[in-house]
Amino acid sequence: MAQALDALTPPSARYDILIVGGGLAGAHTAATLRKLGYPGTIGVLSNESLAPYERPPLSKAYLCGEIPQQRLLLHPDTFWTGRNIDLLCGSRVISLDAGKREVSCGNGALFSYGTLVWATGGTSRRLTCPGADAVTQHTVRTLADADRLRRAAATAEHVVIVGAGFVGLEVAATLRKSNKHVTVLDTADRVLARVGGETLSNHVADLHRKHGVEIHLSTPVEALYSQAANFAEVLLRDGRRLVTDCLVVGAGMLPETDALTAAGALGRHGVDVDAMCRTSLPHVYAVGDCARQPNVFVEGDSVRLECVSSAIEQAAIAAHNIVGKPAPKPSVPWFWSNQYDLRLQIAGVSAGHDRTEVNGDPSKGSFSIAYFKGDRLIALDALNAPKDFSQARQKIAANIGTVTASGDASLAHVFTHVNC
Ligand SMILES: Cc1cc2nc3c(=O)[nH]c(=O)nc-3n(C[C@H](O)[C@H](O)[C@H](O)COP(=O)(O)OP(=O)(O)OC[C@H]3O[C@@H](n4cnc5c(N)ncnc54)[C@H](O)[C@@H]3O)c2cc1C
Repeated sequence: MAQALDALTPPSARYDILIVGGGLAGAHTAATLRKLGYPGTIGVLSNESLAPYERPPLSKAYLCGEIPQQRLLLHPDTFWTGRNIDLLCGSRVISLDAGKREVSCGNGALFSYGTLVWATGGTSRRLTCPGADAVTQHTVRTLADADRLRRAAATAEHVVIVGAGFVGLEVAATLRKSNKHVTVLDTADRVLARVGGETLSNHVADLHRKHGVEIHLSTPVEALYSQAANFAEVLLRDGRRLVTDCLVVGAGMLPETDALTAAGALGRHGVDVDAMCRTSLPHVYAVGDCARQPNVFVEGDSVRLECVSSAIEQAAIAAHNIVGKPAPKPSVPWFWSNQYDLRLQIAGVSAGHDRTEVNGDPSKGSFSIAYFKGDRLIALDALNAPKDFSQARQKIAANIGTVTASGDASLAHVFTHVNC
């Protein structure tokens, strides 16, 4: 069971393996260590109050109340107690002494470790333009964020969403279900500009427009003004003004690695890890959204992937290396998003492609976009085309000489939640 650190834990304790961050990557590292038979003590420290849970439904089914909080949990309490994994909730690690193998928390607690696994994900970016501090900016990274947004959206009439990435667009689709007036803004000239090509962007933007979302592209926010009764005015660079009673910012996230880099770990905008998920500090691993790792699917470049498949894979790699067992081979990264009746599945990483090919008929809403580099398929966006997605994963894997997915049971658990 998750323990509130202040009440139940001595201010100082030692764990053979201490995991900082009780999200997907941290939880999966702990669970995998036990599955591999690791006998030592394991503590998972988290600044959140809930036991490890899944974030994908926060912008989808949970936001519109289709699933209860209980369904977000990765595992029931008995899973953690039965495996003798201590969940130490409600405390933020603020510093690390890699020489002494100690971390300190904001509430004064001190923990020492044999091996440290840093799995802190990140925090949502916020607008910093003039007036930004005077208005409420909703973000969706944690359960608390989603609860706050749910409450605000319940009475809101006009929602303005800054950022047309996955989180922004999923929130738009979810809030359209309850007929909110929704406007989406982005500085880029197309939606999903960071993750896919123009065909994908145009199709997804059309879908949102058909559902009544107003989209303004190439439109930076110049300033924010607070108005009475929770209303805010959004001044756009082109001079237009929007009035909103619910401002949501979906502008990506900042990896939470300050304490680690202050202790000497290498990395900018994320912490650098090697193929075994080791940081440059002795006895310190890093996994999940905060870790930047060389990736065979982008020709060995170091990248930070923010997706469930990568968090699970890195957790498995770190756990195997900690216990000295051969780690699973890298598998094709993949991602999904649900918006209205669109089920988008992305296999591989399309960055660096030089050609695309469309399979199927976009006007029927079921098709895929294949991304090639030379003759090699490197990625595919499947729009209501699950078969194309599965085949692409096999092909991309075969091109690299690796596997499509780990056969891990907890990955199957994640698959059962993909409709969230
Ligand atoms: C709204 C939303 C929707 C998403 N949808 C999808 C999707 O559809 N498909 C997909 O593949 N991926 C999706 N993702 C991404 C996916 O959820 C992440 O890739 C995954 O959660 C990463 O896991 P993590 O453990 O690295 O980080 P997190 O899940 O963020 O966990 C990190 C944990 O560490 C804690 N922490 C941070 N700093 C400290 C500190 N200093 N001390 C103690 N604790 C700390 C945090 O509070 C958090 O609990 C979505 C993410 C969000 C936010």
